Amino acid sequence: RTYQPALGAEALEQLTVEQAMHGVLTPDGAVATDGFSLQYQPVVDSRTRRPLMVEALLRWHGPWGEVPPQLFVPIAERSHLIVQLGAWTARTALRQLREWRQLWPELKVSVNVSARQLAQPDLAAQLAALLDECGLPPSALVVELTEAAAVDIRQLRAFQELQEAGLSIALDDVGTGYASLSSLAQLPLQMLKIDRSLTVQLAPLPQGNCGHAQTGQRRSTRPLMHALITFGRESGLQVVAEGVETPEQLELLECWGPIQIQGYLESPPLSTEDMTEYLQWKAQE
Ligand code: C2E
Ligand code: CA
Ligand code: CA
Ligand code: CA
Repeated sequence: RTYQPALGAEALEQLTVEQAMHGVLTPDGAVATDGFSLQYQPVVDSRTRRPLMVEALLRWHGPWGEVPPQLFVPIAERSHLIVQLGAWTARTALRQLREWRQLWPELKVSVNVSARQLAQPDLAAQLAALLDECGLPPSALVVELTEAAAVDIRQLRAFQELQEAGLSIALDDVGTGYASLSSLAQLPLQMLKIDRSLTVQLAPLPQGNCGHAQTGQRRSTRPLMHALITFGRESGLQVVAEGVETPEQLELLECWGPIQIQGYLESPPLSTEDMTEYLQWKAQE
């Protein structure tokens, strides 16, 4: 059951979520992670559909049921809670990856890291220690950062530290409006994840999918998407299209060559058990 706040009750809703989240902190300041879990969503090669990476997505079962991350993540981000949750997420995901690598040896895991976590002076060292503890190479972990965090020049040093530790950095939600192409070109990155809002508006065209848009048609995000994919590829980055839901969207994307895709077409986010089954099934194919 999904938590549905009453219309117009936004302030009250935020307050209640905040209070409930405080209940998540134990007296000694540690996070009681009982109500939290992770789901995992695969990123696959568009042609072979072989999994390359799984993204860890945080879930919270609050006092009233499932609370969507769009609601509780921003609240956790206003306090130290996000730092503790982030550490728990990385540890849980990496321990899981160690098991999944027995089914799929080259698999990577990505975790979402918010600006406040990036500002922790020892983030790179902490993640490197976790990888070491799990017996995983640094290349097994991809750190997803949003454009908003990335354009903050004060974070450049944190980027460099992650890079020096051998981790991969993915820029998340690309195309949602914060970073200029020139600022992207200056960041140390390995991957661009193009936001779902662009994939959704890849409108099909009347004269066949690889054709050009006609005047008078609803504005498609296709030229922008093409520009971002080209920019990423020619900069030597891996490019992921997020939120691919339909075969039509996939066909449109493949007009520009093979790409990495994430979305309901391949799989929604899965529980740990379901992801294990998914990987077993892929390994048998
Ligand atoms: P995101 O990082 O952009 O994650 C992708 C979101 O898109 C996920 O939503 C996923 O379920 C959804 N999605 C994937 N494929 C499709 C599709 O084909 N169609 C549609 N309609 N949606 C799709 P989710 O899990 O609700 O997470 C929302 C956001 O919450 C994430 O966006 C991320 O910004 C944040 N978040 C989630 N987990 C964490 C975390 O551990 N730490 C931090 N800092 N943020 C997190
Ligand atoms: Ca993400
Ligand atoms: Ca994203
Ligand atoms: Ca997004």
